[in-house]
Amino acid sequence: MTDSTTPKNKLEGKVAIVTGGSSGIGEATARHFATHGARAIVIADVQDEMGQRVAASISPNICSYVHCDVSDEEQVRTLVDSTINKYGCLDIMFSNAGIGQATNKCVQSVFDIDLSAYDKLMAVNARGMVACVKHAVKAMVEGHVRGSIICTASVSASVGSYGGVDYSMSKHAVIGLVRSASLQVGSYGIRVNCVSPGVVGTPLVKDTMRLENDEQVGKMQELSSYLKGGLLMPKNVADAVVFLASEDSQFVTGHNLVVDAGCGGCGVLYA
Ligand code: NAD
Repeated sequence: MTDSTTPKNKLEGKVAIVTGGSSGIGEATARHFATHGARAIVIADVQDEMGQRVAASISPNICSYVHCDVSDEEQVRTLVDSTINKYGCLDIMFSNAGIGQATNKCVQSVFDIDLSAYDKLMAVNARGMVACVKHAVKAMVEGHVRGSIICTASVSASVGSYGGVDYSMSKHAVIGLVRSASLQVGSYGIRVNCVSPGVVGTPLVKDTMRLENDEQVGKMQELSSYLKGGLLMPKNVADAVVFLASEDSQFVTGHNLVVDAGCGGCGVLYA
């Protein structure tokens, strides 16, 4: 979506939070937000050293790191409050933090699904998303900000996933959240959308699929992609998030923007 002819100031002056910004899609998006002129970017994650490194490498002047476990509502409330106190408002919430299914097998079978692992996954992937959307909309309404909220769902939010039952359930929940919240906050000028990546070579996908290197990730992506000629990278998802965060999508809300090179159309193994 962005190339050398595209003006790179789509987010000029904006204040953004990126959860799960220490790595993968969140990190790439925090970098894109900076490139597109955001005034302040707060990376929120549980991987503190990595997050601090990413924030410093983007720019200590505009990017900071805050420890926040999104499954803990109090930590999410503090994240949003401290952002408002420091920067005066919140324009963009990219609620992206997520984890893969906890299983020592490649395929998580519905016959022996571990319900305590299920609880942990839902606490981050579903509860964490609700907490972020709740506190972001409250802050935007109180600050009279016509903000944009983007949640990371997945291709397995729209079709069944052979590999991960609880992961797919958690991502279906994200779409339900986005569709419902967008209806309720539209009258305040606040938009709520989600982005659904296909297979992207990040630590989450490598761990879940037991992939050992980028070559194996590439093979998996080729198997699950109908669009040949390149591999889906975190920055490609970040382009879609910038679109949803910016005025380019000013009449887009309640939408699930799929960035998957076609794999969602055939039912997915993972992602
Ligand atoms: P990643 O592992 O590189 O990044 C996820 C980040 O979330 C990590 O930095 C991690 O520390 C953070 N995180 C985990 N639990 C957290 C918590 N409780 N509180 C705050 N931060 C937490 O993986 P990624 O692929 O970049 O994942 C980002 C999002 O994209 C996730 O929601 C994931 O489900 C989704 N997704 C990824 C793919 C893919 O193929 N990589 C496909 C579809 C959807």
